[in-house]
Amino acid sequence: MYNRILIANRGEIALRVIRACREMGIQSIAVYSEADKDSMHVRLADEAFCIGPARSADSYLRIDQIISAAEVGGADAIHPGYGFLSENAHFNEVCRSCKIDFIGPMPEAMEKLGDKNTARSIAIASGVPVVPGSDGLIESDAEAIRVAKEIGYPVLIKATAGGGGKGMRVASNESMLSTALQQARNEAQAAFGNGGVYLEHYVEKPRHIEVQVIADHHGNVLHLHERDCSVQRRHQKLIEEAPSFTLAPERRKAICDAAIRMIRGASYTNAGTVEFIVDQQDNFYFIEVNARIQVEHPVTEMVTGIDLIKEQILVASGQKFTRTQEQIPCIGAAIECRINAENPDKNFQPNPGKITSMFAPGGFGVRFDSHAYSGYTVPPNYDSMIGKLIVHRPTREEAIITMRRALLELQVEGISTTAAFHRRVLEHPEFIAGRCDTKFVDRELINA
Ligand code: ADP
Ligand code: ADP
Ligand code: MG
Repeated sequence: MYNRILIANRGEIALRVIRACREMGIQSIAVYSEADKDSMHVRLADEAFCIGPARSADSYLRIDQIISAAEVGGADAIHPGYGFLSENAHFNEVCRSCKIDFIGPMPEAMEKLGDKNTARSIAIASGVPVVPGSDGLIESDAEAIRVAKEIGYPVLIKATAGGGGKGMRVASNESMLSTALQQARNEAQAAFGNGGVYLEHYVEKPRHIEVQVIADHHGNVLHLHERDCSVQRRHQKLIEEAPSFTLAPERRKAICDAAIRMIRGASYTNAGTVEFIVDQQDNFYFIEVNARIQVEHPVTEMVTGIDLIKEQILVASGQKFTRTQEQIPCIGAAIECRINAENPDKNFQPNPGKITSMFAPGGFGVRFDSHAYSGYTVPPNYDSMIGKLIVHRPTREEAIITMRRALLELQVEGISTTAAFHRRVLEHPEFIAGRCDTKFVDRELINA
């Protein structure tokens, strides 16, 4: 087992990893930017290194600085968290060449899955259904027009290097296609340095359902059931829950089995998520693999009772699973609300600044994963998420009641947060009925 783990991240996920390390008797090493010197992850880690100025490109994305900190600090492994370098296959490779374990998949699997078009080919080869779309990257307008005709409008143009909802454009008809193609290419080139795009049929009113998977280095692949993440704004998740409330047991089993085929097909190890969209007839289609721990992993932890970060660490260090698929339960219902420092009344504009006072919710069935505290200043330089409010109750109905109560309890003064917005979602009949699709928020709560 490892003696010391460096966490190449910040915010709540850095705390989450520090907590797991402490319980496992592993020393944790934090890295931080100048903007984060008063952060909780710096205080709670056993050791901390400043790796540069506020800008991510000058700190959290500096591979050289992070590797130096790992070497000086004597880390035998690095946990990348999510975002930042977590899906950077080059960083993963550099860790390997420096003989530091990367807590995640091998660079080869990461590289393949990081390219969505390649991931799509692996899905096809593994017998996992994909959304009808182009056979590969789209090389010309003429090709796009031909493929779009075949698969039918509307079509979604997707960046092969995409992530975080960037580089995606919908075209409802042929006259929109070439402009949308150009926009998607430009956006992808600017954001990822790769302008490659492909086409998928745009599924109307889909739900987003994903499967948590974990694979060890001994050929064992297990799923930890599914999550429904359909409550999204602009393709960004706001609320996640486990299990899916809408899928029939037979469909749940089928989607989890498909996820396992995908992970085997990609020779993937460690924790990962296979994402699908599900249409109105409950057909599911693979969209991508997230080769890292995800923001919404706690809902899965609550229903399975499995600490995913500890499992990631154990798997990376070479341990073999002792449990079988049948020994992974799914008990009750869990919901997570992402609490962001944003103003929902001003188009979710980020609202960094000083939290003059804060009270965190608690009580039976409530978990609050957050790095925020009274007096903490949310820097403007990073993702605006300041915490994740998670509840776990025997039924979804009870979970909704507990979440409403916990959202009311959360007090954050000095900045605006998305808590009040979540309360509106939790009161909405469509959410209560469990019938949200990915356009629910835009349709019912923003443009309403
Ligand atoms: P997830 O499904 O885990 O939410 P997404 O695909 O939506 O992942 O986004 C990728 C991850 O990167 C997310 O976990 C998100 O919080 C994180 N992220 C996005 N932007 C930033 C940023 N500027 N700084 C740090 N993390 C970010
Ligand atoms: P990202 O890497 O940005 O997370 P994804 O491929 O996971 O990109 O897609 C993000 C979201 O976009 C999905 O959760 C879903 O809401 C929507 N989406 C993706 N593909 C389709 C599609 N073919 N039809 C309709 N919506 C889609
Ligand atoms: Mg995604």
